[in-house]
Amino acid sequence: MSSSIPHCLIVGAGMAGLVAARRLAKANWQVTVLEKSRGFGGRMATRRIGEARFDHGAQAFTLHGMFFRALIEKMQDEGLIDSWCRGFLNADQQLSLDGYLRFFAREGMNSIGKYLARDLDVHCNETVSAIAPLQSEQPRWQVTCSSGLQLQTDALIMTPPLPQSLKLIQDLPGIDTQSRQWEQLKTVKYDPCIAVMAVLDGASGLPEPGGLANADPMSPIKWLADNRQKGLSPVEAVTLHGTAHFSRQHWKTDRDEAGKKLWEAARAHYIRANALELQTHGWRYAEVQDPLDVNFMALPTPAPLLLAGDAFGDRFHQLEGAAMSGLDAAKSLLKQF
Ligand SMILES: Cc1cc2nc3c(=O)[nH]c(=O)nc-3n(C[C@H](O)[C@H](O)[C@H](O)COP(=O)(O)OP(=O)(O)OC[C@H]3O[C@@H](n4cnc5c(N)ncnc54)[C@H](O)[C@@H]3O)c2cc1C
Repeated sequence: MSSSIPHCLIVGAGMAGLVAARRLAKANWQVTVLEKSRGFGGRMATRRIGEARFDHGAQAFTLHGMFFRALIEKMQDEGLIDSWCRGFLNADQQLSLDGYLRFFAREGMNSIGKYLARDLDVHCNETVSAIAPLQSEQPRWQVTCSSGLQLQTDALIMTPPLPQSLKLIQDLPGIDTQSRQWEQLKTVKYDPCIAVMAVLDGASGLPEPGGLANADPMSPIKWLADNRQKGLSPVEAVTLHGTAHFSRQHWKTDRDEAGKKLWEAARAHYIRANALELQTHGWRYAEVQDPLDVNFMALPTPAPLLLAGDAFGDRFHQLEGAAMSGLDAAKSLLKQF
């Protein structure tokens, strides 16, 4: 399409955005990533409370396709990734093995974001607030951030949770909010998740491997992880995730009160120790209920605009699905220019 080196702006420095950025940079594109949070990784998130360390977003992942396996094996060779287990505890605290090896990041899941962001031009603390078409010989975009930063680009890849991306692009030329494509995009729904991080005064008492999935169907707890047993925290520290039902029910109530309720349920059924400190985090768009059956979507706008992320592709292996979505969006752009 263009004879000069094309520039792509990517919104979001999570798995999808960073994989897309690396693929384009490898093909010698100029790439800029804008990320609204302080750090890299998106929902691959890690927090410290004193010495304690918690993964409070994505917890672990399995490997399926060749691209993701090669990416993770590289990080494994550098000591960033380790294997955890082949299954988690069930509600009766019995180990439920399914044969799939789970991996985790030794320094926390956000270290995957840091690794993928190395050598890239990523601007953190930049929230994209407006996108507009530029009238030039070649159609281009102008992207504005809340900070006032303005950038121009040949192509855009949007990787925030879909409802956030759609809000930013709904008025752009070429977008038809009555179209079948738009209707499809609007069908993608996410479950919220209230996450609790608890520093403990002693061992959690959870049996090995220190991860419990799908607690009792009546429990408000979906997931419980002992971050010390996992190999992440040097001190006793657990992460709890509320079920979608609990998180939705308590989304608009006091977040810390909801966190306390989750902690009390965990303490009553699963955890032996007391909490020295509790922190709560709300994920408005935690996990996609029903991703679309394609790996990304290109929109019929004058300049290229692609949507990518975990809203597309693999419903069972979300991190790998997000990586594949970013990769395929980047590859499709490479074909266009
Ligand atoms: C509680 C929880 C538990 C999970 N557990 C697992 C698990 O165990 N295994 C698994 O495989 N997956 C898990 N997931 C899902 C997994 O984390 C996601 O599928 C994956 O990280 C999505 O990556 P992404 O790049 O599509 O999106 P994100 O990681 O959300 O990246 C999008 C980025 O865009 C940024 N952004 C948004 N709006 C703007 C804007 N306007 N301007 C600039 N930047 C913006 C966001 O800050 C974010 O960093 C979990 C998720 C949560 C929340």
